Amino acid sequence: MRFDIISVLPDLLDSPFAHSILQRAQKKGIAEIMVHNLRDYSTNKQKSVDDYPYGGGSGMVMSIPPFARCIEALQAEREYDEVIFMSPDGVTFNQTIANELSGKGNVIILCGHYKGIDQRIRDLFVTREISIGDYVLSGGELPAAVLVDAIVRLIPGVLNDETSALSDSFQGELLDAPVYTRPADWNGHKVPDVLLSGHELKINEWRHEQALLRTQQRRPDLLED
Ligand code: SAH
Repeated sequence: MRFDIISVLPDLLDSPFAHSILQRAQKKGIAEIMVHNLRDYSTNKQKSVDDYPYGGGSGMVMSIPPFARCIEALQAEREYDEVIFMSPDGVTFNQTIANELSGKGNVIILCGHYKGIDQRIRDLFVTREISIGDYVLSGGELPAAVLVDAIVRLIPGVLNDETSALSDSFQGELLDAPVYTRPADWNGHKVPDVLLSGHELKINEWRHEQALLRTQQRRPDLLED
């Protein structure tokens, strides 16, 4: 899967993709993540990418030409399945959307800033608008990193143990069960006996019970669905 992220602050995206599972996915050649500096597609001397809003009001608006140039240059090289705009008024991201997107091939992601991007970019180029939650961040870079992380770990071959992703919260209707590691006894606080029993069936039963309990207590809405 290939991601082309268009951003005015590409440096912000250096670190999230340079470690751990995301780094491994790229080394294995399973995911390719390219970050494009929007300013490189600005044609004026100041390399500006924004302008005052028509109608007045506070905040700058990101203008069409740099985005259009960058998107068109990418689309001239390959077919894209989606052009996603990260936006607080988009569809709220969840595991179902992550699963769906993990089956795609090439995806462009636009990161907004300031007051947002000219509505015509959204009307003409964007196929999908995604929010990472009901709060407003200063830019689309962190949301893009959240999106790419959640998607990439679902692509077959990325996680060493595929079954791990399947038992994660939201992958089914249940939250994940509690997990423990050594020491078995820490200052009198013990790991549940069943986990030390070596009895696989009983352990699976216990985990399922715990996952159910946790879901009932914390997210009963998931069980209603
Ligand atoms: N005026 C806009 C917010 C702009 S915030 C509004 O009220 O809807 C600047 C940029 O940050 C946005 O264009 C978007 O790309 C990004 N952003 C902020 N919060 C986000 C969120 N919750 N999910 C996804 N992107 C977000």
